[in-house]
Amino acid sequence: MKKVPIRMCLSCRERKEKKSLIRVVRTLQGTLEVDPTGKKAGRGAYVCPVPECVERLDRKSLSFAFRIEVSEKEVLSLKEALRTYLGGQAKEVRHDKGQSV
Ligand SMILES: [Zn+2]
Repeated sequence: MKKVPIRMCLSCRERKEKKSLIRVVRTLQGTLEVDPTGKKAGRGAYVCPVPECVERLDRKSLSFAFRIEVSEKEVLSLKEALRTYLGGQAKEVRHDKGQSV
């Protein structure tokens, strides 16, 4: 029997299948990066591929996950990378809101 790997989202703390989460990694160089392949070397952490969870990432949860002091700047650039990743992947239907502005 195969065991499905379960990981916890850093933001909402829900446990989910690893493959349904995005891996972020602290590389050996010490930078925080999105790791869509899940294969980068370094300490990994996981977050749901939804904007709600991405936006809720903060220094505290990331510092805890990576066991280092993460700077505000690093948090922002990681979030930016995650947004780009989500945006590129989802390509979801854009609702035209604000027509009546
Ligand atoms: Zn989550």
